[in-house]
Amino acid sequence: MILITGATGQFGASTIEFLLKKGISPSKIVALVRDEEKAKDLKSKGVEIRVGDYNNYDSLEASFQGVEKILFISGSDIIKRTEQHLNVVSAAKEAGVKHIVYTSFQTRNETESSPLWIVAKSHLKTEVCLKESGIDYTILKNSLCMDMIPAFLGEKVIETGMIFLPAGNGKVGAVLRSEMAEASANILIGSNHNGKTNLITNNEAFSYPEIAKNLSEISGKTINYISPTADEYAQALTEHGVPAEYIGLFSGFAVAQEFGELDTTSSDLEELLGRKPTSIKSFLNQIYSSN
Ligand code: NAP
Repeated sequence: MILITGATGQFGASTIEFLLKKGISPSKIVALVRDEEKAKDLKSKGVEIRVGDYNNYDSLEASFQGVEKILFISGSDIIKRTEQHLNVVSAAKEAGVKHIVYTSFQTRNETESSPLWIVAKSHLKTEVCLKESGIDYTILKNSLCMDMIPAFLGEKVIETGMIFLPAGNGKVGAVLRSEMAEASANILIGSNHNGKTNLITNNEAFSYPEIAKNLSEISGKTINYISPTADEYAQALTEHGVPAEYIGLFSGFAVAQEFGELDTTSSDLEELLGRKPTSIKSFLNQIYSSN
């Protein structure tokens, strides 16, 4: 049995779709969910639903019974995440799970001085805990989801002709979430992945000046890129009524990008997919060519 945590989320649901498409019987897939109501679609496909919460150790241990492999999708509560993740790993050990595939995070500076330390620290602690657990493991150090780029650009980027982000000329090797999910499915059904840490990045990293150039070509309008300071950015977004936590998150990623924290490329994803991942140019074309 393969269990997918976060199965009602985008990454989990997409991985289950790939497993089914690749011929895995739904009777061999278990979806861990917090809310059974949200899992009706998965249930209708024949996937077994088990209810568990990363905050509740007993629910996890009960849900992991009879499971051979887990795709452990990181939780979204940045504050409680370390404790939650340690619950998942120890419950898996207690339940006799053989292999955990974990969706981690990638930044060059893996110390407290990283602008993304708040995001990275629980992932790094989880990686250590997994490695020490004695359970077979595979770590996916995921780059930024490319699907988030339109949110960084802003809804009206073509209309205003301006990208406003404190990312300088820094680059990011962002990847489509669906391709991260497909790679996860391939690992779950493949072999020889034990003990490996994969850099889930694109083959080429890209910058916002490059995005502005691509968008100008696609839209036929000049799209300018302005890189303010983080303070100027926060002030402008606050004036537009954007909540502080979103500003912090967007600013953290942008500043990290400016300092080269996200400028990683690797062929690991290409090898896992058996093809090159979708490029930023192709993604922008898909999103903006009809606007
Ligand atoms: P998502 O759609 O928000 O899904 C998160 C999933 O985790 C949901 O199924 C959610 O359950 C579940 N979950 C959250 N807290 C839980 C808990 N305490 N116990 C059990 N399940 C819990 O996010 P996603 O897009 O699939 O992304 C998955 C993860 O990747 C995120 O949680 C985050 O850690 C990470 N992420 C990375 C990037 C990146 O750029 N690399 C971007 C976004 C997210 P409910 O449906 O019940 O809420």
